[in-house]
Amino acid sequence: MSVNNIPMLRTEKRAALEDTVARWKAAGQRVAFVPTMGALHEGHLSLVRLAKQHAERVVVSIFVNPAQFAPHEDFGSYPRTLEADLTKLQHAGVDLAYTPLADEIYPKGQDSDIKAGEAAKGLESDFRPHFFDGVVNVVARLFEQVKPDIAIFGEKDYQQLKVVEELVQTLGLPIEIIGAPIARDAHGLALSSRNAYLSAEELAIARKLNVILRKESPTPSSRPTAGGGEILRSLDYARDDIKEALLEAGFDKVDYVEERWGRKLAAAWLGKTRLIDNIEI
Ligand code: AMP
Repeated sequence: MSVNNIPMLRTEKRAALEDTVARWKAAGQRVAFVPTMGALHEGHLSLVRLAKQHAERVVVSIFVNPAQFAPHEDFGSYPRTLEADLTKLQHAGVDLAYTPLADEIYPKGQDSDIKAGEAAKGLESDFRPHFFDGVVNVVARLFEQVKPDIAIFGEKDYQQLKVVEELVQTLGLPIEIIGAPIARDAHGLALSSRNAYLSAEELAIARKLNVILRKESPTPSSRPTAGGGEILRSLDYARDDIKEALLEAGFDKVDYVEERWGRKLAAAWLGKTRLIDNIEI
């Protein structure tokens, strides 16, 4: 396992990354990879800890991927805290921080034949249609460069985890994908780099998202059913109840509340900030 007092390596260069990983692999060491967009918090560090349990070497990338932001989204204002991030990674015992510039990832531009698969349908894609193609574009390139044995993705972005699992299967990559549990604050709010956008008032509302998602919905029998599809109808009610509760709690807009993969997943807006969360059903 990695040792905390060994200085962490850091490179912006693909060639240096590949040389280092090749050396480790030649020495029989397994390599785990944690891709991030920086603005690191305890959620990212929990992924690093999990990575360290599965491999002798841990690589973390920090790259704010332009391909997964639409022009109207927050690419320009996304929090960038590189020096603080590197200190956190060093303390967490990461072996190598890969901090490429866009040219290193997209030397010939962002065009890609690799598209997101079935798991990308619906949910996030209904509201961010460009998003998962942008994610698989960067993840496939990073996998090609890092060539990890294992890669860790957070369950916070549950649909993304499923999209990446499908990508690895479709491409036949020899990479084990491991999902990491959602790291939350003391109020149950899923940690997110975008939480930095929230005002104190918005933060108080944001903390209600997980509480409302966890609430039991009224049983179907306590609701009138206007014929047809009892089960579907009860799901509709559950979704509508949650949406209503979120709006009452102060959220400005609810993109979706859906059930999939044995999870209840939601996305909602507070001012200019979009929050997502999910819980096991
Ligand atoms: P990001 O920097 O937002 O692209 O996230 C990088 C990785 O960290 C992704 O796999 C996320 O799912 C994961 N992640 C972000 N926040 C959390 C959290 N609160 N709990 C668990 N994983 C997280």
